[in-house]
Amino acid sequence: MNTLFEKFDQISKSPAAQLSAYKAQGKKAIGVLPYYAPEELVYAAGMVPFGMWGSNKKTISRAKEYCATFYCTIAQLAVEMLLDGTMDGLDGVITPTICDTLRPMSQNIRVSMSDKMPVIFLAHPQNRFDLNGLTFTVSQYTNIRKKLEEIAGKPITDDDIRAAIKVYNACHVQQRRFVKLAGEHPDVVTAVRRSAVLKAGWFMLKDEYCAMLKELNDKIEALPACDWPGTKVVVSGIIFDNPILLQIFDDYKIAIVADDVAHESRTFKTDIPDDADPMMALAKQFANRDHDVLLYDPQSSKNRRAEFVAQLVKDSGADGLVLFMQQFCDPEEMEYPYLKKELDAQGIPHIKLGIDQQMRDFGQARTALQAFADVLAVG
Ligand code: SF4
Repeated sequence: MNTLFEKFDQISKSPAAQLSAYKAQGKKAIGVLPYYAPEELVYAAGMVPFGMWGSNKKTISRAKEYCATFYCTIAQLAVEMLLDGTMDGLDGVITPTICDTLRPMSQNIRVSMSDKMPVIFLAHPQNRFDLNGLTFTVSQYTNIRKKLEEIAGKPITDDDIRAAIKVYNACHVQQRRFVKLAGEHPDVVTAVRRSAVLKAGWFMLKDEYCAMLKELNDKIEALPACDWPGTKVVVSGIIFDNPILLQIFDDYKIAIVADDVAHESRTFKTDIPDDADPMMALAKQFANRDHDVLLYDPQSSKNRRAEFVAQLVKDSGADGLVLFMQQFCDPEEMEYPYLKKELDAQGIPHIKLGIDQQMRDFGQARTALQAFADVLAVG
């Protein structure tokens, strides 16, 4: 089991090396920025989808030429990696535009990168449920399919997409299984390990990742039950993958029993449904995504998302919730008062910690998490 954890850790820490390894195998790779790009089409084209969620290692310098200072660091660092050559091995990049930062960012990437690689624009509809919304999503995905066919130099057949859908749905099952097992065995699946395992999935072909993850899940499942002496929390936010920050959870025996994190469970909680038309199946998956700060909810007056998160805390047996608020993330910031209201109404303790990917000093977070763990322990 330790060997598997080490492999995931290695992959999660070295995306550039992972990209080089795929290129050495003669594969093409497509960068996929957040959120909800149909990476199944990249896989169906025989190419490697490569997640781009910023970086904890880089400083921002070249991206400053293109980005306003109030852009979140996830977007700025993604551009930085494109500009400074870290991602030169990519054969193209897909730029979704689901928030107010990603919309202008997609144009910055188009202007700065189009002489290096094809830049594929993706606009999701917010009214995604009815036939008009679904048709619009299919038209956007069809455009991506065409561009990917040009890069791959071959057509993507419907059967290719059906096969990719099967692989992705099977992977979702293992990803959800891992999250559950990690919550049941925090003694073995530390916060640092949990993050590395989930993060590695963004840099691997999903069939390879799924096989490795299943092997790990089988081993964790065979472990004796864990009598956890510490506290249990659900984590919410966009991304929290800095090992220094995660180590604080392990230092204070704060187990992560579930998450509502965009980089983690929000990505794989919704399967791709059956449909005779595989493009429509992908569009329906997007329409079915729910309880998400980035997506329109026609029943928003009911505060369904906050209720969902509160229920997640209860169902997972957590003692409270840790919310990591990305600096300059308008969607998460605007959502927070509603979430707080619901958590307070249901008596669920929570803590909100501001983070970004340029943070190097986690002293404040350490103090706050230690105090939160103490409060939960006596509560
Ligand atoms: S962190 Fe927030 S502002 Fe930045 S890309 Fe994600 S949703 Fe948009």
